[in-house]
Formats: sequence, C-alpha cells, structure tokens
Amino acid sequence: MLELSKQDVELDAPCTNKEEALGFIVSRMVDGGLVQPDYLAGMVERESQTSTYLGNGIAIPHGTPETRDMVKQTGIKVARFPKGLDWSNGQTVYTAVGIAAKSDEHLGILKKLTHIISSDELSKRLHTTSSPDEVIAILKGEADAPTLSIHLPNLRTGMKLAFSDEARALTVSILRKASPGPQINWGAMILLQPLQLADNLWLLCTLDDVHPPMLAAVQFHSPDLPNALFITLITRGNVHKPFMDQLMALRHSGLIDKLTSAPDPQTLYRLLKGVHAEGKTATCRIPLPHGLHARPAAQLVELVNSLGVDVLVENLDGDGDPVKANSIARLISLGACFGHRLRFSIADNPHVQNQLDSLLREVAKGLGDEPTPLPDDLPVDDSQSTQPAQQHRPTAAPKPGEKIKGLCGAPGMAVGSVFVQQEVTYNYQEQATNPAEQRQRLEDAIATVRARIRERIKVTGTQASSNEAKLIAGMHLALLDDPSLIDDAQELIPLNKSAEWAWHTTYEQLASQQENNPDKLLAERAADFRDVGSQVLSVLTGTDNESNESAPHILVCHELPASKVPMLDPAITLAVVTAVGGVTSHAAILARSAGIPLLVGCGEQVLQIPADSRLIVNCDDQYTLIADSEDAVQQALAEKQTREEAIRVAHDNRMKPAITTDGVQLEVVANVTNSSQIQKALDLGAEGVGLYRSEFVYMEFGREPTVEQQVTEYGQALSLLQGRPFVVRTLDVGGDKPLPYLPMETEENPFLGIRGARLSRLYPDMLKRQLEALIKSGLAADKDENNKPNLKIMFPMICDIHEWRELKQMTADVVNDHTGLSFELGMMVEIPSAALMSDIFAPELDFFSVGTNDLTQYTMAIDRGHPTLSAMADPIHPSILRQIKMTVDSADSHNGWVGVCGELAADPVGSIILAGLGVKELSMSVKAIPLTKSRLREVSMKQAQAMAEAALYAESAQAVRALKPEDF
Ligand code: PEP
Ligand code: MG
Repeated sequence: MLELSKQDVELDAPCTNKEEALGFIVSRMVDGGLVQPDYLAGMVERESQTSTYLGNGIAIPHGTPETRDMVKQTGIKVARFPKGLDWSNGQTVYTAVGIAAKSDEHLGILKKLTHIISSDELSKRLHTTSSPDEVIAILKGEADAPTLSIHLPNLRTGMKLAFSDEARALTVSILRKASPGPQINWGAMILLQPLQLADNLWLLCTLDDVHPPMLAAVQFHSPDLPNALFITLITRGNVHKPFMDQLMALRHSGLIDKLTSAPDPQTLYRLLKGVHAEGKTATCRIPLPHGLHARPAAQLVELVNSLGVDVLVENLDGDGDPVKANSIARLISLGACFGHRLRFSIADNPHVQNQLDSLLREVAKGLGDEPTPLPDDLPVDDSQSTQPAQQHRPTAAPKPGEKIKGLCGAPGMAVGSVFVQQEVTYNYQEQATNPAEQRQRLEDAIATVRARIRERIKVTGTQASSNEAKLIAGMHLALLDDPSLIDDAQELIPLNKSAEWAWHTTYEQLASQQENNPDKLLAERAADFRDVGSQVLSVLTGTDNESNESAPHILVCHELPASKVPMLDPAITLAVVTAVGGVTSHAAILARSAGIPLLVGCGEQVLQIPADSRLIVNCDDQYTLIADSEDAVQQALAEKQTREEAIRVAHDNRMKPAITTDGVQLEVVANVTNSSQIQKALDLGAEGVGLYRSEFVYMEFGREPTVEQQVTEYGQALSLLQGRPFVVRTLDVGGDKPLPYLPMETEENPFLGIRGARLSRLYPDMLKRQLEALIKSGLAADKDENNKPNLKIMFPMICDIHEWRELKQMTADVVNDHTGLSFELGMMVEIPSAALMSDIFAPELDFFSVGTNDLTQYTMAIDRGHPTLSAMADPIHPSILRQIKMTVDSADSHNGWVGVCGELAADPVGSIILAGLGVKELSMSVKAIPLTKSRLREVSMKQAQAMAEAALYAESAQAVRALKPEDF
C-alpha cells in the first residue's frame, strides 16, 4: 500500500473549475518528483475519454496508459475543494485523489475509496475534516469501524485429522501466524471450549480488544466424521454479529452441509461471506498488465449495462466479496491484478450463455487496454485453482476391465496381484500430563528418524541411483531441523498435549499451507512435510507402517512417500499405483531411478480395489485396470515381455551403429541442452550431438554468458565428443523461451514474432560473441591431435534467404578475425517457407536440420503446446513429410545433407520413414537412442523407402501410422 504524508494533502485547493484542479494536482505531483509536467495532458485526455468521477463527491484523476512513461514514481496527491467543483454532467467533486501510477501499487487506495464512496458518513468526513491526518486515515481505511475479516489464506479444506480438537489447534495456529504478537494468550485459547452448532460444526469465539477481528476455519474429515468444520474467531464488541447472522441464515436455509463439506477454500469463503451466487457462471483471467483499473472497469460497466441483466463478479484470487458489475467503483474494489481470475455470475435466462461469452470475449480483448498474453500454466477454471479437493467421500471399487487413468510418475509396465495399503491410523491420546517427558519423547523420536535417514543415505550412497536419493534425504533432514516445525510443536506441549498430538497438528498445518501454494511444483512439496511428519509419528506411536508383503505385488496406496522408495525392492514391488501425487514429486524422481513403474493420481477409487484382484499397470500409456480374465493377464504379460525384451536388446546393442539390413548406415545423435548431458548420451550409444540447444546455457546465467564462459562450456562439449559431430544451434529464444535479461516487446502472438534468428538480427553483437566463442573453442580443441573438432553451426527459425545471407555474413566477419578452423554451416528448417524454398538455400549451405516440432506447428497452424489441439498436430502428417522430402531433394542436388532433430526422429514409425526419405542424421532425446537404433537395424532401406513413398501419398497422419515395414 502507498504511504501518504501530510504534504500529499491540500485541504483547501485554490481552484474554481476542473481544469484548474487538474493543473493544481499535476503541479503538486511535479513538485513532489512524481511526474513530468506533460502528465497533465494525459490527465486531460483521460477525463475526455471518461470522467474519473467515482461517486459521493470523490474523483480520481489520472493519466492515460500512453502517459505512464511520464510517471517517475508512483504516488498520490489529494486536493480538497470545500465549495465543490463541477466535474462532469453536473457531478460535484469535493475531494480529488490524483494518481500517478507506474504499476498497480495504488490499487490498495482505490479499493479503500470504493468503500468510502459507499458510506455517506465516511465521505462527509473526508470532505470536511480539518485534519490532514484524518484524511490519510480515512483513505487508508484506518478510520473505519472494525469488521470481521475473512481472508482466503486463513481457510483450509480437505484436512484429514484424528479429532475435532486438532482442527481447533489448527485454527488457532493459523490465526497466530496471521496475526503474530504477544497480546493474545494463544495457549489459553486452545483450551477454551467451543460451541457445537451441529454434529459436525464447532465455533470458538474469543473476545480481544487489541487484535483486528478475524477468523480461521478448517474443513476436515476424521475417522468418525466424513465432513466437518471448525471455526475460530477473534472478535471485539459485537463486530462478529453480521457473521453470526450469516451462519444462522445458512442453517435456516439448510446449507450447513454445504459449509461443512466445502470442497475448496474459495467455496468455503463464499459461503462464510454469504455470497454464493446462483445462476450460471464463467471464469476468465485478467490479461491487463495494470489490472482492472478505472478505464477497463468503465468499459465493463458499459457492456454489463448493455446486456440488461444483473451480473455479479468476484475476484477468485482476491479477498473481497463479489460485487455487482454495474459500478466502476465496485469493480475497482475487487483489486483484480494481472492474471487474477474473475468469475461472472448471471441468473439463468435463455441468453445467459451468450451473455457470459460476450463478457469473457471482451475481457480477453482487454476492455480497451492492450491485453498481455497470460502464462499458460495458470489455470482459468476455478475448480483447478487449488489442489484437487481431498474430500472424504466413499468411492465405489473400479470394475474389472475398466481403465483407470493416472499419470506416469515412472515408466514401465507391470502385471501382478494387488496389495492395497490402507492409510495407517496412528492411535494416541491428545492429553498428556508431563510436558518435560513429552518434549523429550518428541526430541528422541526426531533423533531416531534423523539417524534412520542418515543410515539410508549411507546405504544408497553405494547405489547407482544414489544422487537423487541423497539429495532428497538431505532435504528431509533439513526439514527435521526446521524451527517452524520443531518449535511450533514444542510450544503446544506445555498445554498438556501429547508429543504425538503436538507434532501431528504442527506438520499438518505446514503441509496444508504448502498445499495451497499456487505454484504446482511447490504445492507438491507438501508431501515431504507429511512424509517426515509421519515417520516421526510412527516412531512416537510405535506404529509399523511398512508393508510386510513379501510376495511380488503391485502396491496401491494413497500417496507414496519419497522416503519409502529406497526401501522398495523392485523384485517384490513390481509397480506402485497411488490415489494422489504428482509426477514431479520426489517419490516419482526416486521411482524413476529405481526402475519401479509408478502411476500417480488415479483417485481414491484405487484404494477400493478388491484384495484378490490382479492388476495390469501400464505407466507408458498412463492407465491401470483390474484384469477381467486370464486372457487379459496373459496378453498384458506378453506385451510387457515384448516391450522389455525390445528395450533390453536395444540397450545391449546400443553401441552398435544403426545399419539397415541392406547395409545403409544412419547417424543417430543426441539432443542436449548443455555439455553435462553428453557423457550420458555417449553411454547410451549417441554418435554425437545433433542439436545442442545453446539457449539453455544462456538461461542458466543471470546475464549473457561472457565469451570466456561460453568457450569453457563449448570446449567441454568438444573434449567429451572427441571428434564426433557437435551441431550447435545458435541462441533460439523468444516465443515460449524468453530470456529474462534480454528485453523483448510484449507480442500478441510470440510464436509468430521475434524469435530465433529474428532476435539474433536484432542483437547482432550478441550472436557475434556466440560465434566467436564457438570458433575459439573449436580452435582450442583443434590443437589436440586426438580431438579434432567436428563443429557444425546452424541458425534457428530462418524463413527467408536474406536472413540467411545476413547471418552467414556475420559468421564470415567473425571467421575473418579468427581464421583457421573448418566447420560446417547450416540452418534449421522449422518454417514452411524454408522447406518450400530449400532449393534456393541449398547452394549456399552445408546442411539442413529439420525441426519437426515447429515445422508442424507452423504448417498445421496448431500451437505446439495447445492443451486440446496439440494431439492433432502429429509431425508424421504427410504435409510435413512432403516438406522434408523437398528439403532432402534440394540438399541432394547440392551435395548437402539433411538431419531431423524434432520429436519425429525418435518416433517408432517416423524414424523409418525419415530414413526412407533420405534423411542422413536423426537427433533425439538421449533415452530414445537405443530403441531407435535397434528399430532401424531391423528394416531394410528398400522397405523404408517404399514405406516413405506410401506415406507421402497417404491421406492423413493416421493413415501413415497404419503403415508397417513388414508390409513393404
Ligand atoms: C523443433 O522445432 O523441432 C526443434 C527441434 O526445436 P525446438 O523444439 O527447440 O524449438
Ligand atoms: Mg524449434
């Protein structure tokens, strides 16, 4: 929130009309170093577009987006006109709050203003008080009557607890964190008796004069209660009365069940605030860099008025109520910033869908402002905004033969008997009488777990998969040393709580806090808190939570803790299937390196799989199913065997060249992002590097790596490669790969904008420094007789011969300064114009490398990351194959060669067709190398050519995929 001082307030501004008022405010801003004098023109222009009158005698003059550059520093100047000034259309302004905003720091004040205009009493005080301090207090919202704040971060849902008392302790702990300070006796608060409003609803109410009134609520389930809610209030006077009225209203309307089973904090929030909108809803995100400020809000009001229906809108990422969307002030009060989600609700009517659609469309267009693309990984749908609701609802057992979808945490297939591990219940008392003893017990249990983890590090230290396991165990040790975990738990013990109770309450609170993190990756770390937490709890309670199943089985469990993976024997635990969990979890990382197939996120239903079932788990195709017949088991076993045999044979023969049965050799090389991946690639049979994505090296540094830093990196690559091909793609940023330190204009469609070679032409010196580093590292390697460099440089995203010539000339200039190295120069074919004109390019270069990922995107006009369409953009489509054929023909007639470095190179069908089309080099992700080489060794070039010929004339990608080498 902006700071305001007395100097920012003029109680009696000497102005007689609006023009003078604007001039006065800007001159105060100029004096205060906030803006340049020309900002006035922006303010005048803004008023001519729409009046900044807010209501109740208040206006908020500010500049246009075009004059934002004239703001040196964000600030506010307040001018009062005791006699009132005519602002527009007969509206009289007594207080003008002038805004100079570089970004959205002023939104806090705007929010308060909207509250002020809805109160006659506050507005009057603002216009008449003789104290600048009071003006400031009113603007900052400090002069308000206290209200009970209900904040989203203080609400939790889906908690699994043993007792309602744990929920009470959690609410107290949430409030203590939200409002730290010595004034409240938190310990005593935990001991207060709550009111039981229903079988599954408790309310703990404490009076306190010092603290701001606030509330915390925990929705949970326990062994006895499928759904329950615990609310704790710190209140003063009868500030909480409206809330209590709201609670009673819910009770009378039979909505208590909705409250106690709220699936996510947002729903709970809306119910507690009494703003559960009826009708149809639609949600979108704000694409405006400066949020929903006054001008777009005015546009939205205009649109809403033209629809002729009541529209309710709420900011799902804010902490305020939904508002009617017919008031600019109310819309601003949402405090909606860039990326925030707005949910519109309209009562059901025959046109409701069209009305919602037009609202979403106009928001996406920017409501008169320039919209900025939103990051793809932010969900729009509010149902996806938090962790999946962990409601405890009885689920039916899956039927035999029915596929249960999951996500691949670790690849592979397994077939076997199921062992469903139900969640462990820890039995313990809440109360304990001897705090010193309890503290000691907790310390001892933590020490035991620490020792066990250290022991595990020692054991895994000798295994191949040790690195990840060691890192993760190290992280768990650090968690056990974390004061927020240990101190909080120790603080609860003096309240006559058992060590178990104090520990469980504390780690659950931290885990649930983590779970609510909007960053998916960080939210998944909640599993680590629960992992170390339950290890200590099992020591404290003497509960053995290991499965003693010694016969080979497929383990099905709620979630797989990372600490368990190193203890799994892959000969006994054939695969693991979990109800929840993510593919980036530490458990998944460890399962991948242990070679245990892991299917995560299959839903609670998997816990209902009958004990005598046989399961088929296919992590590669991301499903599991209960086998419904012996035949299904045998088929799955045969498929598993075929897959594994193929992988084994391929792995054993990975060092053998990829020579077709009739003697034609293909070069199979690796796609890497830095030199540290090269050794692994060589170990897996790579014959060199076919695509070195150099932009990742640039991304690793906070600024452009120096020539010396680059020489070191490229030199390392050359020395590992020992004369094998090293194809380096020059910096390819832009589009989906921004470089934080390289300023790039925001583009409406970055994939069609300045990326790859286009960016290098904008920053020629940067490209020259990269070329210099490459040539210098080549020259250094050239001195070593045994390590003659085999360097090939290529430019990404070339679409036109003039671009190519300009970059080739730049390379020649650098070579002139550092002569003596021979290397090849080529380009990527990623844009259809390059493939179609390849005959023009071919005489001027040594090679083409086809980037089928981008070539498919641009040929089929489907964004390569599109959530629903990208599956349709199959690079094996004949339109792509025909372009590759044209490129090969062009290269052939000028002694050049063609490689393919997009995903198609590793495709089981694609790699054979590419060989048949005359592609000489296939470059792919490291792990795909052994199998691709092996597949190429199984066909003849004659078959591959015939298959390629058929593919060129096939009618669709599906038709190409139906082709089999054995048919040719
Ligand atoms: C491609 O576009 O196919 C390619 C290999 O480049 P990238 O995936 O890095 O854009
Ligand atoms: Mg590309």
